[in-house]
Formats: sequence, C-alpha cells, structure tokens
Amino acid sequence: MAVLDRAARALFLTELVRGLGITLGYVLKPSVTINYPYEKGPLSPRFRGEHALRRYPNGEERCIACKLCEAICPAQAITIEAEPRGDGSRRTTRYDIDMTKCIYCGLCQEACPVDAIVEGPNFEFAAETREELMYDKDKLLSNGDRWEAEIQLNLAADAPYR
Ligand code: SF4
Ligand code: SF4
Repeated sequence: MAVLDRAARALFLTELVRGLGITLGYVLKPSVTINYPYEKGPLSPRFRGEHALRRYPNGEERCIACKLCEAICPAQAITIEAEPRGDGSRRTTRYDIDMTKCIYCGLCQEACPVDAIVEGPNFEFAAETREELMYDKDKLLSNGDRWEAEIQLNLAADAPYR
C-alpha cells in the first residue's frame, strides 16, 4: 500500500505542487528578511557591541582610572596604566582593549562607577587583521565621541530596569 501511495505521489507530482503552493502563499505575505546593510533590524538598548570610552559634556574624560573594569574582565582583555595629573586628578595614560580576547560579557560596563567604558550599539567593526582589533585609548575615545548620542539614549532606556 505504501508503495502504491509513493508511486501515486510521484506520478501526480503532489509534493511539488504542495511546495509551489507554500511558496506562492509566502509571496503574498510581508517579507520577513531585511536588505542588510541598507536596512537594519532593531537593537536592544542592552546590546553589547563595540566598546567606547565616554566624555562629560565639557569634553573631560569620564574615566578616573580606578581599574575596576580591568580587574573584573574575565578575559583579561583590558590593560590600564595611570598617573595623577597636575591638578591631582587620576587619569589613564594607557587604556587598551584586546578585542580579540573580549567575550562581550559587559562586566566592564557594569563595574564602571562613572559610566565611562560602555559597549555601544556598533556591531560593524569587522577587521582584516588582528592588529586592527587592538584598541587603544584614542580609538576608544573616538568611538565614544562618535556614538555618544546613541549611548545616552540606550542608557536612559535601560535606566528604569536597574
Ligand atoms: S566585555 Fe567582558 S571580556 Fe570584553 S572587555 Fe569588557 S569585561 Fe572584558
Ligand atoms: S573605565 Fe570605569 S571602571 Fe575602568 S578604570 Fe575607568 S572609571 Fe574605572
């Protein structure tokens, strides 16, 4: 009986017709794909993307070189060196992140007492060499300058849940 059934389905191409019916049904429905990179899907305010070091509105670096982020980083991806400035404030002289080690856990951001190091919304930072993924302080600060508006919106959206 099963042999006859299979033969009948092969003869009348029923599976092909059913498949075409499903395809035609989806043609009339709204598309579920997007035309990346020209279109992008929504991102959560908690999305953990490329790192950035932020500044205060007056341009001063937020980071106070407490090294909590360096201490908590499970991948040991962060390297900080610091010394006091002339005015007595403590600032980093070196702030490196080895992005090839980073596991995007977000603990550095959670540990920071002044919201200086954050994982911003940028996920388009693929590189062709490892060297390009060795971020230094200048790179991180420029990321902060570039993404500050989006980072502020994301922090504000997440604030009620903290
Ligand atoms: S996201 Fe996690 S692994 Fe990456 S630098 Fe921060 S603490 Fe380290
Ligand atoms: S980024 Fe934040 S946690 Fe890391 S050293 Fe600077 S102030 Fe401390």
